Amino acid sequence: MILETLKLIKKNIALRCDKAARDISEIKIIAVSKNTGLNLINQAIDAGIVDLGENKAQELSEKFPLIDKNVNWHFLGHLQRNKVKQVVEIASLIHSVDSLRLAEEINKQAQKCGKIQKVLLEVKTSDEATKYGITEESELLEIASFCLNAPNIELTGLMTLAPFTDNEELIRKCFSDLRKLKTMLCENAITISELSMGMSHDYEIAIEEGATMIRLGTAIFGPRDYSKSWKEQ
Ligand SMILES: *Cc1c(COP(=O)(O)O)cnc(C)c1O
Repeated sequence: MILETLKLIKKNIALRCDKAARDISEIKIIAVSKNTGLNLINQAIDAGIVDLGENKAQELSEKFPLIDKNVNWHFLGHLQRNKVKQVVEIASLIHSVDSLRLAEEINKQAQKCGKIQKVLLEVKTSDEATKYGITEESELLEIASFCLNAPNIELTGLMTLAPFTDNEELIRKCFSDLRKLKTMLCENAITISELSMGMSHDYEIAIEEGATMIRLGTAIFGPRDYSKSWKEQ
């Protein structure tokens, strides 16, 4: 089932890439496995998924030892500073850095683990999508500069969420705003390459606007059932 679904998604991605004159190899699919059970996750891995995304520190820690295959774990959710250690021990990329204090804590914990933690800065490009994310360009520059100089952080890009709406222009504007911020940082000698944007309902638009990572949950695994925990799925 998941194999077939993924084939369709990849076909869709290829179509959009053609339209946008992009190469399909530029786009990484992150399978968002939050509230999803091990059976489906393993099916996705068998179908070729190597990147998994979680949004809760505890769920990430619980699942990590149960998936014995070589996968990259992505942390996508709001991260509290007291959970940083737990996440840094596992995550290959943290998508949701939205404050200087959080970046400082990540640098500190990464130093303790002897690792260089890759991060993205989360930008709030709309009023409705989420309450988290950096809103001011000056703050973005400040946190990015800190990351650039922090010995145990590697800043690789930016992340955003578009509002959940049918208004394509509104979604497109969020994504193009993020792309412009990447250009702005590059002009300030902060070279980044990744744009993590696009979810199940808007990834096609994100690809047209330059996404390099799309985060797909429902499109791969089907609707999430929050009446049960992931352990019961
Ligand atoms: C849940 C989640 C996704 C995936 O959402 P779908 O609509 O199921 O594809 C992507 N990004 C973040 C940050 C999420 O929390």
